[in-house]
Amino acid sequence: MIIYKFGGTSVGLPERMHTVADLITADNEPKIVVLSAVSGTTNSLVEIGELLLAKKQKEAKDKVGNLKKHYDQFIDNLYSTEEGKSKGTELIHSFFNDIDALTSIPDFNEGNNKTLLAFGEIMSTNLFHQYLLEADIDNALLPALDFMSIDEDAEPRIDSISTELKKILDSQDKKQIYITQGFICRNHEGKTDNLQRGGSDYTASLVGAAIAAKEVQIWTDIDGMHNNDPRVVDSTFPISELSFDEAAELAYFGAKILHPSSILPAQKFGIPVRLKSTLNPEAAGTVIHNTTGSADIKAIAAKDGITAIKIKSTRMLLAHGFLRRLFEVFEKYKTSIDMITTSEVAVSVTIDNASHLQEIVDELSNFGFVEVDNNQSIVCIVGSMLTNKQGALKKIFDSLGDLPIRMVSYGGSKNNVSILIDSKFKTDALVKLNTIFA
Ligand code: ADP
Ligand code: ASP
Ligand code: MG
Repeated sequence: MIIYKFGGTSVGLPERMHTVADLITADNEPKIVVLSAVSGTTNSLVEIGELLLAKKQKEAKDKVGNLKKHYDQFIDNLYSTEEGKSKGTELIHSFFNDIDALTSIPDFNEGNNKTLLAFGEIMSTNLFHQYLLEADIDNALLPALDFMSIDEDAEPRIDSISTELKKILDSQDKKQIYITQGFICRNHEGKTDNLQRGGSDYTASLVGAAIAAKEVQIWTDIDGMHNNDPRVVDSTFPISELSFDEAAELAYFGAKILHPSSILPAQKFGIPVRLKSTLNPEAAGTVIHNTTGSADIKAIAAKDGITAIKIKSTRMLLAHGFLRRLFEVFEKYKTSIDMITTSEVAVSVTIDNASHLQEIVDELSNFGFVEVDNNQSIVCIVGSMLTNKQGALKKIFDSLGDLPIRMVSYGGSKNNVSILIDSKFKTDALVKLNTIFA
């Protein structure tokens, strides 16, 4: 089996869904096709949810009305037969009845919001399934909520996902093509939840791992992983091959093409991940697999929204057990640390989840003087065995010129050099670093 995942843009127009149908019927390889929501839908649902949580029901209902109009138009162009159009309309109207019911809940809460967000993927997969049936392409819809689950810590329950998915596949007639929803899952209470924004990539990798697929293919709007962020830097280029470690670091440190955790399940089971463009299927794309690659700088990514925390303590830093006590504070608030640097009198760490910042700072103040810098970005420079490569650091710092750098992390892994800068210098840093590839 091969897992195909198509992102929001790849299913964002009726004609794109037609292209997806062509792509998945081009050979006889059995496949599970994971779909995102039609582009723009999850953003709209997020906005609607926020309005409902803020008790702005009227505005929320207006937005739902606009979204429904979009789908009515979509259906008209997706299906070619009267029967297809009427089945599609029936489907969408029933989903919008459910969405309307959610918008009428007086005490709309976070749980209702998660149910609301799930409609994006539920609608895209149902419309596409129906389109394949209209085109006489045999396929079955596998509801992700029947097998995709996360635990109390929002970590995927790989064993259960595997058992449940296999059970479902074994219980029905074999099909060449299965369709399922990305992003959505059930939480430990059995309620509808999700794998965070961009989570359909994660679904694809988890499904691949669950059934030991031959390959996971992520189809998106760009021809593979580029050497730098194409939204910020001109003249980036696709990288033909990456190791799992390199790709995982790039995804984690901000390469939006992949959900931050999406490489890990595939890596654990040694399943190659291929990145391909739906808009340009002929392009080779990127293959991510077990390879050591060459010792060179391969790519750069940046992650925003980072907070740096410095703890200065002349008294305690050299005492044994100090770092343990410091880390315990972060653990208590389930806040993970991305970067760390130490000196004899101070420790600096970065976090990307500042939801418990105040409590963390309060507790850290017991150890010494605490300083917080908001609006930081981690720029991550990735390449196999980068730390073995003579001159790599010189190249990096020469290219950055006199840009002020807040922290540097080197030697933690062989594949990565990370630097922390104020976010206002991010674009400049990415553009300057791109000269390394010239
Ligand atoms: P999808 O909706 O298919 O999941 P995303 O928008 O999540 O697509 O991811 C694709 C986008 O990621 C590209 O259009 C590109 O702008 C952005 N991107 C950021 N960094 C990179 C990178 N290093 N290589 C390729 N694309 C990147
Ligand atoms: N639809 C979800 C989002 O927009 C998941 C995804 O597209 O991967 O975040
Ligand atoms: Mg995405």
